Amino acid sequence: MERMQQIVGRARAAFNSGRSRPLEFRIQQLKALERMVQEKEKEILAAIKADLNKCGHNAYSHEIMGVLGELALTMEKLPSWAAPQPVKKNLVTMRDEAYINYEPLGVVLVIGAWNYPFVLVMQPLIGAIAAGNAVVVKPSEVSANTARLVAELLPQYLDKELYPVVTGGVPETTELLTQRFDHILYTGNTAVGKIVMAAAAKHLTPVTLELGGKSPCYIDRDCDLAVACRRITWGKYMNCGQTCIAPDYILCHPSIQGKVVENIKATLKEFYGDDVKSSPDYERIINQRHFKRVKSLLEGQKIAFGGETDEASCFIAPTILTDVSPESKVMEEEIFGPVLPILTVKSVEEAIEFINRREKPLALYVFSNNKQLIKRVISETSSGGVTGNDVIMHFFLPTLPFGGVGHSGMGAYHGRHSFETFSHRRSCLIKDLKMESTNKMRYPPSSQKKVDWAKFFFLKRFNKARVGLFVVALLGVVAAVMIK
Ligand code: NAD
Repeated sequence: MERMQQIVGRARAAFNSGRSRPLEFRIQQLKALERMVQEKEKEILAAIKADLNKCGHNAYSHEIMGVLGELALTMEKLPSWAAPQPVKKNLVTMRDEAYINYEPLGVVLVIGAWNYPFVLVMQPLIGAIAAGNAVVVKPSEVSANTARLVAELLPQYLDKELYPVVTGGVPETTELLTQRFDHILYTGNTAVGKIVMAAAAKHLTPVTLELGGKSPCYIDRDCDLAVACRRITWGKYMNCGQTCIAPDYILCHPSIQGKVVENIKATLKEFYGDDVKSSPDYERIINQRHFKRVKSLLEGQKIAFGGETDEASCFIAPTILTDVSPESKVMEEEIFGPVLPILTVKSVEEAIEFINRREKPLALYVFSNNKQLIKRVISETSSGGVTGNDVIMHFFLPTLPFGGVGHSGMGAYHGRHSFETFSHRRSCLIKDLKMESTNKMRYPPSSQKKVDWAKFFFLKRFNKARVGLFVVALLGVVAAVMIK
């Protein structure tokens, strides 16, 4: 307990010193982070390989490229994001200064998950530094190699007091959560999300919860199945299915189910060759516990393809299940593994109803030649994000906020959205001490005349172009004289 208190206390003292606030300092820290990623690329790739058996090419594109992209974008845009944002004024504040000022929240806690162990702590960290905060970083102990490396590297490049790393598992995180933070961004499963939110509530700490769920994928009959299935196969089986926004299950008409299976099978061969086990592009399940959990989801199911497993190496082959019942175990929880159930529905209406009967998912995918149908599914359902005619890709566009809704999470980040998540939008109104007579209408003693003038100034909508600022100003003076 004392150790956590000390770490957070030191971060708070460093924040209170004010040194994380100047833009030059924030950019200098982000530059140092960029240098770290560039100089230690090999070590980072090796840690990810050791944790998830991911080859260098994939680890680079899944975990390093996004971080470098986010760093470059943030360093370029930070001056404009952090600049005071003037707002529209009304008649009463016409002569005043009114703007939103972005200020740091204080000490932020970032808790990462194991499935993309580097990017899931780095991306929030970038946003929190950019916003001028101190940040306590807690990588997932499940990806132990990456966690150890992050703990070793960050202090070599960043201000040690402002950005400490805490490693460890449930006891350490539990202890950490008793401390007071000014914001917590947690990535992980929904059950622990509730624990984090309950702990945060004790201190009235706001949270961003990046959770999971079962992300549906609807394939319309009017669709280029070869293209759709190639894209789906890529997003489903990357990282061995351990991706929060992977399509969890497919909904399609019974008449195309067979063709969907055939197309996915063909794509799997194209991607991983005849022997998936020896493909450098196919990862492994993170540990025995998750291996057993995913394997148990196959029990009693009709396996149309795949199904091979090897406990010693945590290997589960890319698997397709057909004619899956909505009541089966595989449809109860997020799969988070390389198992793709197909459920048949008779129409888009039935698919929409199916989706709406369940918790709001983190992502939703719709494939169709008909854009109207895609828009209809979007407007009649809800999810954290949507990609039409592809999967995963909304994650990679930093102008789109990334986050869940309902049980898939709250709040969002990426790019400018990260900066806003870790900032307080402070309302600032600065007046001068002149023209006191115009304020008379709000001071006692009250009168009907004052109310009438107040109504005129607060409620009347002017067409500025027609009336002209000069006339409006003149009205102010008239009102002042009249009330006198
Ligand atoms: P995990 O086991 O790594 O846990 C996440 C973090 O929570 C870890 O740092 C861990 O130390 C901490 N933790 C675990 N149990 C705790 C407890 N009882 N009290 C306090 N802290 C605790 O990761 P996971 O939960 O297995 O991650 C997988 C889930 O995360 C999936 O549901 C997935 O969809 C979701 N996910 C979401 C996103 C997103 O961006 N929305 C990204 C990745 C993963």
